Amino acid sequence: MSPRRDIPRCRLCGHGPLEPVHTEPVMAFQADREDALESIIAYQGCRRCALVQVEPLPPLDWLRAYYGAAPVASLDQEVLSTVKKHYFVSTIAFLQDHLEKPPQRIFETGAASGWLLHLLAEAFQAEVAGIEPNEACRLFARREFGLDLLPGFLEDLDLAAHGWREAFDLQVCCSVLEHAAWPGRLLTPLAATLKPGGHLYLEVPSLRPPRRGVLAEKVLQPLHLSYFSPASLSRLGETSGLALLHLEEVRDLEVPVYRALYRKVEPLDHLRELVAGHAQEFQQRRRAVLEVCRRHLAAANNVWIWGIGNNFFELWREDAALFAPATCRLVDRSPAKIGKRLGELTVSPPDPEVCGEPQIILVAATSRVVQENIRQDARRHFPGVAVHSLFDCEASRAAQ
Ligand SMILES: [Zn+2]
Repeated sequence: MSPRRDIPRCRLCGHGPLEPVHTEPVMAFQADREDALESIIAYQGCRRCALVQVEPLPPLDWLRAYYGAAPVASLDQEVLSTVKKHYFVSTIAFLQDHLEKPPQRIFETGAASGWLLHLLAEAFQAEVAGIEPNEACRLFARREFGLDLLPGFLEDLDLAAHGWREAFDLQVCCSVLEHAAWPGRLLTPLAATLKPGGHLYLEVPSLRPPRRGVLAEKVLQPLHLSYFSPASLSRLGETSGLALLHLEEVRDLEVPVYRALYRKVEPLDHLRELVAGHAQEFQQRRRAVLEVCRRHLAAANNVWIWGIGNNFFELWREDAALFAPATCRLVDRSPAKIGKRLGELTVSPPDPEVCGEPQIILVAATSRVVQENIRQDARRHFPGVAVHSLFDCEASRAAQ
């Protein structure tokens, strides 16, 4: 009986069997033959996590030797930098926009000649470290930027021995993951280098055509062992304890890329922080709005507060005595609110026969649409009266 060939399974989630996506003939070299042979490689997809992987996988020792010697070692580094510079600029602009605070320690996996790492160090005034298997690249990085990159592969390193476990605020990994046979196995040490709350920035090629012109490089090629989509990039984070914060496809590059930003935090903890921050921001704004109310209520004896809802309720709870019937009327056009009491105040329709003539109208809604609606309503019916939106962003910021 002939031995059963192993059926390939997904190298990210273990699911199988895989489904054929595409096949292509490629030129294959063999050490003992002079002619280049044709070989067929298959791109197979996982229905569960959407990873597409190359089959058969090239021998792993051959891959390691390849990345130690090639592919960028023989290229002119100056030329490489001019081609890649706008990718780097775009990456740094993205990080400046999306990180909550500047990272103090940055690590790059597959740092190549150190250009990006050097630019990151300058942009964030950060301490940097990196790893790169290619010796020529490391020499260039040392000569040009004074960067001492570690040789080899992150998966092989004893992170604790290097003091790199939970040591970095930002881990950057660009144009690397598509070369990894087991992308999840690379994510594990990438995540391990991050401090709790630290970020991983990942960039992988997209197969989609660029927004302008034609695709400059063929992305489908035998050394790209894994192909990603939003589904597999999200799955990658889940399997390595990283919450996916942001994912986008950048199509204004010669080779479009997916960029993904993860954070080493439980997804619920991340949301909890956002909720707390949001509530705190409105708490601060409320204090500023109360000051505005205090000023107007002290200067007039018939102030209308229009657009009564939860926003006003929160103000009232902070200082109920400020909103006294002697100077203040609550008005709204909603039949559901008219007649309701809030302490000594009762919500009335904006009618001078009930409330007297307003001296100033304060709009209490936070929604811009509702604010504008009330403003127009107020100007139409009380053309000479000043209307002020309490939660107008610019006004409440200026009052802070
Ligand atoms: Zn899978």
